[in-house]
Amino acid sequence: MQQQPAEEQCNSTPQGVQALLDWQGAHGLPDFSAFSDADFAPAFAQALAEAEHEIAALTAIEEEPTVENFLIPFELSGQKLDRLCSIFFLRAGAHGNEQIRRLERRFAPELARFSSRLMMNKALFAKIEALYQRLDALKADDETRRVVVESRKGFIRSGAALPAAAQQRLSAINERLAMLGAQFGQNVLQDTSDWLLLLQKEDLSGLPEDVIAVMRAAAAEHGQPDAYAVTLTRAIIVPFLTFSARRDLREQALKAFLARGARGGASDNAEIMRETLALRAEKAKLLGFPTYAAFKLDNSMAKSAGNVMDLLLPVWAKARQKAANERDALREFAAQSGHNDRLEAWDWRFYAEKLKAKLYAFDEAQLKPYLQLDNILAAAFYVAGRLFGLEFTEIAHVPLWHETARLWQVRKDGREIGLFIGDYFARSSKQSGAWMSALQSSHKLRGGAKPIVYNICNFAPGAKGQPALLSLDEARTVFHEFGHALHGLLSDVRWPSISGTAVARDFVELPSQLYEHWLTAPEIMARFALSAKTGKAMPPEFLQKIQAAKNFTSGYDTVQYTASALMDMELHENADIADVAAFEKALLARLHMPEGIAMMHRPAHFKHIFDGDGYAAGYYSYMWSEVMDIDAFTAFEASGDVFNPELADKLYRHIYAAGGKAPPAELYQAFRGRMPQPAAMIKDRGLDG
Ligand SMILES: [Zn+2]
Repeated sequence: MQQQPAEEQCNSTPQGVQALLDWQGAHGLPDFSAFSDADFAPAFAQALAEAEHEIAALTAIEEEPTVENFLIPFELSGQKLDRLCSIFFLRAGAHGNEQIRRLERRFAPELARFSSRLMMNKALFAKIEALYQRLDALKADDETRRVVVESRKGFIRSGAALPAAAQQRLSAINERLAMLGAQFGQNVLQDTSDWLLLLQKEDLSGLPEDVIAVMRAAAAEHGQPDAYAVTLTRAIIVPFLTFSARRDLREQALKAFLARGARGGASDNAEIMRETLALRAEKAKLLGFPTYAAFKLDNSMAKSAGNVMDLLLPVWAKARQKAANERDALREFAAQSGHNDRLEAWDWRFYAEKLKAKLYAFDEAQLKPYLQLDNILAAAFYVAGRLFGLEFTEIAHVPLWHETARLWQVRKDGREIGLFIGDYFARSSKQSGAWMSALQSSHKLRGGAKPIVYNICNFAPGAKGQPALLSLDEARTVFHEFGHALHGLLSDVRWPSISGTAVARDFVELPSQLYEHWLTAPEIMARFALSAKTGKAMPPEFLQKIQAAKNFTSGYDTVQYTASALMDMELHENADIADVAAFEKALLARLHMPEGIAMMHRPAHFKHIFDGDGYAAGYYSYMWSEVMDIDAFTAFEASGDVFNPELADKLYRHIYAAGGKAPPAELYQAFRGRMPQPAAMIKDRGLDG
């Protein structure tokens, strides 16, 4: 075992370790003021030992396994480790530091080793298998049956049925993959936070006031209070590319953004990607699948790579066609304003925004003053009230991991059902992107547990004393992540392993993407899109303009997304990719990637698929879920009431509260009465013309 750096051993206290493992804070939360970073390592060791002990006790049971003597204790095992990990990985993502990063590189392989020991444990597998064989005799209810079936499948997919030598190799692969995933994410974070372009007043041409304010704050954070900083966080880079009139600076910034993870040197991800893909392919073969994509998709709603391609390829063809039309229009427009060069990737957003403003008498900057973060949050809560009878009450003065994180108690029909935490502002200790996760998932075994879920975003805080303002995309992100949060909060299942968001990856984006639709419902905009300056509601014609302009660059947007989804599938369908950058280039050529469009997720910084395997051979999930969310919202619209109580009740029972109670296709059909077709999604994106 490696020698621990000295500072991890000192400063730890028994009380701190205790606070991480037994949550004694207010409202059932961990007391974030009662432990320090130094407590993570000893708490981790203790929790791991306890989990091992519980597993040993379970395998030692001599009686025939039953739900009571085996399944329940098995489902409840490892609770302290879960608690510790939920806090640790929250911190690693949302508020890390050098010590946390070092610990993450240490914990990741240890956890992988533990998971291998657990999931390849023959004695444990034999007990699950025995339960599985006796499901009828035990007269198990549907939910319990589902847990046993899924659990058995999980064991098999983890190698429990393999011979010892193969198990050993698989275990080594998992451990190495965990390490590589953690390193990949850390490299992207480093390349994102390292890069900074300091500008002076004269360089700011074209930029809206609120963007300038955010850039000024970013410069101040870097000790340059008189300058303006372009950084690679999306809250700055995206508006900068959209509005800056300085073509040279846009080029510089976009190139830096696209080079993340591919700059050479210590943070370069080329070798990590190569090794990750090779190990994943080997792992799939060990488990009896021809490719890693086949292995991953076997556990999804889509079932096979063929079915994924049947969705993506027709969309790709239509999106390329529309993007080509968009480019022609942009070129013509750019030429009128004296731009006669090629339309490059750093020009697209800039000219698109200008042309959109001209055609629709509307630009994004007009919208922002009406989209105050606090109001958008209030809107998300309000919609949850109308649809599901939820109420959110903010609780102040409870210590969390950062002073800007906020806590709400959630009630349904007057009864407390859980806690929601929102951490919305970008900072250098936070990973990029937006996500939902849980400190605690809900279940009903032996006293049960209430859900404690959180959303992390990377919005720019408001300038001094001013409210934080969002772009329309960012407001959608609030609703999106909140939709995931509801999936966790409303979960009404008995078993932890099928609780809330523990569903197939290509189904999990349905509750989140569906929720986005309510943001732009006229009633919601009228009530919550209020000017930060005057308090007046957004003029109703803005909403019509948003709708009219919605698909103005849908070719471009769909090309960007679908290129990444196809890239992900192809990377995981091929066994031996020696050079991922060369593969990327060749694939884009083969797909006829339209000129002048850059993938915002290039492999070298594609955390979805390389920082852990969550979305590996699974990035298509967003579009797969979109087919369902468009179809689902259409049901509300067609009823003439976007809050239709009857539909809302079905949505609650079969989707938001259902967790993984039943296979996703069954859940969807229970809600809608049938399966959806992609045509409505293609039409909604304006790609059917
Ligand atoms: Zn999502």
